[in-house]
Amino acid sequence: MGWKAVQKGKEVEAEKKEDGDEHILSSLPNLTEGEVLSLVNADITEHKTKPKPLYTEATLLSAMENAGKEVKEDDKRKAMAECGIGTPATRANIIEMLILRDYIRRDKKSIIPTEKGLAVYEIVNNKKIANAEMTGSWELALAAIEAGQMLADKFAQGINSYVGTICEELLLLSSEQKSYPVYRCPKCGQQSVGIYAKVAKCRHETCGFHVFREVCGIHLSEDNIRDLISSGRTPILKGLTSKAGKKFNARLVLGEDYATSFEFENKKGKQRGR
Ligand SMILES: [Zn+2]
Repeated sequence: MGWKAVQKGKEVEAEKKEDGDEHILSSLPNLTEGEVLSLVNADITEHKTKPKPLYTEATLLSAMENAGKEVKEDDKRKAMAECGIGTPATRANIIEMLILRDYIRRDKKSIIPTEKGLAVYEIVNNKKIANAEMTGSWELALAAIEAGQMLADKFAQGINSYVGTICEELLLLSSEQKSYPVYRCPKCGQQSVGIYAKVAKCRHETCGFHVFREVCGIHLSEDNIRDLISSGRTPILKGLTSKAGKKFNARLVLGEDYATSFEFENKKGKQRGR
């Protein structure tokens, strides 16, 4: 929201001549501290927030280094501030490893999460195994052992119970996964399409069939996905937004190549989906 206030009676004439700052300064009214000015004009302006820029290798390295800054508890933040995620010697290797294992990929200078990476993120997001603060509390404990304030055995016990907890969490997860409904894959014919938060995809690695749920600004419902993979088309989807910002309605249809495209109500033309 923007606003501007101009003092009544002392309105500053905008200098058309390019006289430099000095002239403008000399034409400013004298204002005293505590003086009450009346508002003669206020506007509301609309702006859109921009998404955070994608990480580059450099910004990701620095985010890993400074990972402790967003940690709430003081002592853990301090412990993490000294280490972040990884060490100067290992951070670059961690990124290489994530690329090698296909969790992230390079696109020019940017680093982009892959579908696999996003799927793993969705799964472990709020699980203990993904808790970066853990590094901080371990560093704290190790420092306490070094200072003779904590027995090494106690730390080892803690690690044992931690491993127990994350294993339980992950085992629970695989039974949750089993109970997820799966649908017949239109491409390979197997009962193997799972619907996830951002994508519906076939679990057979060699198949590769997938449909993103975010299409031109709308989110495909599970029913939409079911229709698309079982009958090859969704009902008319309303409120889609083209790249040029135009609203349109269309159905999503599955082509022979198992890629999606739009089919418009008047069927005058087809436009490639994503
Ligand atoms: Zn398949």
